[in-house]
Amino acid sequence: MTTATPLQTTRSEEIFSAAQKLMPGGVSSPVRAFKSVGGQPLVFDRVKGAYAWDVDNNQYIDYIGTWGPAICGHAHPEVIKAIQLAAEKGTSFGAPCYHENVLAELVIDAVPSIEMVRFVNSGTEACMAVLRLMRAYTGREKIIKFEGCYHGHADMFLVKAGSGVATLGLPDSPGVPKSTTANTLTAPYNDLEAVKALFAENPGEICGVILEPVVGNAGFIQPDGGFLAGLREITREHDALLVFDEVMTGFRISYGGAQQKFGITPDLTTLGKIIGGGLPVGAYGGRREIMEMVAPAGPMYQAGTLSGNPLAMTAGIKTLEILQRSGTYEYLEQITHALAEGLVAVAHETGHEACGGSISAMFGFFFNPGPVHNYDEAKRSDLEKFGRFHRGMLEQGVYLAPSQFEAGFTSMAHTEEDVKRTLDAARNVLTQLQTSAG
Ligand SMILES: *Cc1c(COP(=O)(O)O)cnc(C)c1O
Repeated sequence: MTTATPLQTTRSEEIFSAAQKLMPGGVSSPVRAFKSVGGQPLVFDRVKGAYAWDVDNNQYIDYIGTWGPAICGHAHPEVIKAIQLAAEKGTSFGAPCYHENVLAELVIDAVPSIEMVRFVNSGTEACMAVLRLMRAYTGREKIIKFEGCYHGHADMFLVKAGSGVATLGLPDSPGVPKSTTANTLTAPYNDLEAVKALFAENPGEICGVILEPVVGNAGFIQPDGGFLAGLREITREHDALLVFDEVMTGFRISYGGAQQKFGITPDLTTLGKIIGGGLPVGAYGGRREIMEMVAPAGPMYQAGTLSGNPLAMTAGIKTLEILQRSGTYEYLEQITHALAEGLVAVAHETGHEACGGSISAMFGFFFNPGPVHNYDEAKRSDLEKFGRFHRGMLEQGVYLAPSQFEAGFTSMAHTEEDVKRTLDAARNVLTQLQTSAG
């Protein structure tokens, strides 16, 4: 067994402590601060393929991939080249550009539910707009979301789980008025009975149901057989809309997203992450008749200064073109499966309770005997152990999401050798954890 030398992170420490004086918590997005695993966050200098290097020049196998967009591998030469060429013609027009048509066609051809699409600049924006559209189309104000599902940081979605059966939403963050979340109803994931009960208690008032069709923001949680089909049936029965938030799963669970993989077609879909190829993009789309309510075709207002800019469109187009090449998803499936199965096997071998799994290029791993069907079950994981595991893996050169409640992401650049090195690292760390616990 190799014992890792402690990471040399002097430069990261300097930069991060300076950052804490300049920006709240030293970051531009909270999870990056490593609060839930403890320890020093690393400041990155550069990324390439499956790897990231910090400012002290330590190299890591990266299983975050900038939270999903880097599915072709970081800084893919063809994507970078396309961005460089596009940049020479200007970064933003504030006028229509041809690239919007190209990316729109790619998205419409790929995603079964999408007949028309609107581009925005982030997943958060896409989810905000889709909720406005759900309300505009149905004339109803209440929405159902699931505990542990993340739909960006807009007020209406910042509602945590109520306990037991779903309850009226209470805001998750100060600054979110109760009135904004009063119409946000929540149910436990994978619980069709709870959804039925909400529809029964709020007759004619619910505009629809939004969910991550495969959860990545409460750790990796798969839909039970029949859950997605059941939601499709219940929403139809009540003339409500079904919305898949595929910001994470779109072009990752399969080229056509989770809806293609599971054969369930929602009314509307949100996208982000991969379709921007590493630049800021979001999108929402769905049936033509619904999308034609969006301004200027229809009365529902939604706009954006930088929306549809040629740079982001180009990065997205090139990324989707690369994903279309034959064998992509077979490769992603195989490499990710080997990793996820391997992690659970290594954990069991070294005497830890663990469960996990993968679909295509998305995986998860809980220190929890499992199986995990919802957020409450995910929360029973050993978070303290996860923190120590996370730090140990960093010292072995593996960069995992700094929270037990985040999925992991692989890319086309990850090799069998990377997976093997990761599993060797996990064996070393988990063996040490076992000793230190015993
Ligand atoms: C990341 C994510 C969002 C938010 O997207 P941003 O681009 O970070 O605003 C929304 N929904 C899901 C499912 C996500 O994974």
